[in-house]
Amino acid sequence: MTGQTDPVRQDEEIRAELERLRARIAELQESKRQLEAELQESSATAQAPITTSAELESTLRWFLRRVGMILQAEKAVLMLQEPDRRELVAQWPALGLSRDDVEAFRVHASQGVSGQVFREGRPIITDDAMSDPRTIKENVALLNIRNVLTVPLMIERKDAEGQIVEKSTIGVFNVFNKRGGGRFAEEDVTLLTALAKSAASVISSAKLYIAVADEKRELEQTLQGMLAGVLVVDDENRVRLMNSAAKHIFGVPGEDGTGKLLSQVIRDEEVHDLVRSCLDGNSEATAEVSIYSPEERIYQVQTALLRGENGDVSGVVATFNDITELRGVERMKSEFVSTVSHELRTPLTSIKGFIRTLLDDTEGYYDRETQMEFYRIIDTECDRLVRLINDLLNLSRIESGRALDLVLDEVDLGELISRVVDSQRAYTDRHEFDIVVADDLPHINADRDKIDQVLTNLLSNAIKYSPDGGTISVHAREIEGNKVSVSVTDQGIGIPEDQINKLFTRFHRVDSRDSRKQYGTGIGLYLVKHLIEAHQGEVSVTSQPGEGSTFTFVLPTELSTDEGEEHEAKAS
Ligand code: ADP
Repeated sequence: MTGQTDPVRQDEEIRAELERLRARIAELQESKRQLEAELQESSATAQAPITTSAELESTLRWFLRRVGMILQAEKAVLMLQEPDRRELVAQWPALGLSRDDVEAFRVHASQGVSGQVFREGRPIITDDAMSDPRTIKENVALLNIRNVLTVPLMIERKDAEGQIVEKSTIGVFNVFNKRGGGRFAEEDVTLLTALAKSAASVISSAKLYIAVADEKRELEQTLQGMLAGVLVVDDENRVRLMNSAAKHIFGVPGEDGTGKLLSQVIRDEEVHDLVRSCLDGNSEATAEVSIYSPEERIYQVQTALLRGENGDVSGVVATFNDITELRGVERMKSEFVSTVSHELRTPLTSIKGFIRTLLDDTEGYYDRETQMEFYRIIDTECDRLVRLINDLLNLSRIESGRALDLVLDEVDLGELISRVVDSQRAYTDRHEFDIVVADDLPHINADRDKIDQVLTNLLSNAIKYSPDGGTISVHAREIEGNKVSVSVTDQGIGIPEDQINKLFTRFHRVDSRDSRKQYGTGIGLYLVKHLIEAHQGEVSVTSQPGEGSTFTFVLPTELSTDEGEEHEAKAS
């Protein structure tokens, strides 16, 4: 046992300890100097702002490591106030804390040391976190805290002269557990307050940039995803933005276009004029423009002025909506109205003509046979009118979204086919008819009048669109799955392949000279499709231009009850 203490040795030990402390202070001062230099350098080079969360994360990671080193702290974490909430939430990354710890660490602004620092805007040193009545013990235990230094995170807004005009606290900065068993001192408070100031400004401006960048990205994605073309031109007539739809409309490949003069990117004069007159006249306009890319399409173009902060015109945004189909339907509709009028007038003129002839024949000039011939023509023309009116009524039912009422009955298709063929013979003396109905063809459950309409439409088309005559064959047979198949084949003008899938749309008429020679409304096949589908069937077509066409419909022998009931329910 040494009992006595040697004063010389004691003196040496104190001296050595002092040396160590001096060296440590020098070390710390050097780190502080380095950090300040780095901070200065980073704020000088921080011209390129942080625009992504990843950049912000790596900057904060670097910053927290430095803070831990300078203040000799084991842990450090920034806490920010949640927008719209009085809660301070720990931010990732943090020094010496796991991600789970960070996620669990949140404090209401009215509680704990963090809450007090946030409310009062003044730093607090907590020497013994466990026994200090102000601390939240759960958090002290969770994060294994011995002592803490907490400073507010404040941002300052300065005016042009550099005077602070606004100050606001966005959160707090906590450093925990001084290394080497020490405590945080006033010197640490000064240092951390300075560091917190630069951290707050970095975070708040980065968050602002990130939010703006996110919004910009969202806007760009929306613009790119739009069906309408969007073109932005600045006040010097240079293209600033073209979304992918606009590039497609004007045939501009990939990244080309942006920054170039409008006239170098788009050839269309009408578009130049619209943009120019919008810029010159400072007025916005709507116009219809035909653009060839390569075939003609019609666009509704809308121009709107873009204005800068001071209200000056900074450019024009033009949107392009493809209205080709809309105009096409409008054209088809007006053609339809004129053809329907014609289709109504033709039989009426003929009926009126024959009736007048018969009425005027007071002298008995026409013999009985001729009179009968006139009556037959009147009868046929009346049938044509009834058919047209039925078609129009069915069309209006379908257009108004109502179901076609089916009056179901047992139908002998063989008998129906020969009746329809017989009545169609009256319209032609150029065609042969060939009917092949399988002997064992089962009767079907269907609406007789509607199937009559289908057959009449297909046969009258077969006659109309084989103006040079030929054989028209009607074949009916049973096929697998309790179905019957009926096909009508002609040797007429045929249908170009690219028109086949448009045939069954309303008002569609094949745009060829041979086809347009024949009068028609473009609703026959549209109705055929709806009538067959109302019977749970299908219709299809095969054709060879110049050789002829075959229209085939397939019907179930029995309607399935579910759909049948649904149908009746709709109809009632
Ligand atoms: P339309 O009243 O014009 O005949 P449809 O709807 O019955 O109307 O037929 C639509 C178009 O389909 C017709 O205008 C015609 O161009 C084409 N078409 C229909 N049937 C035939 C056919 N058998 N041969 C050739 N073209 C046909």
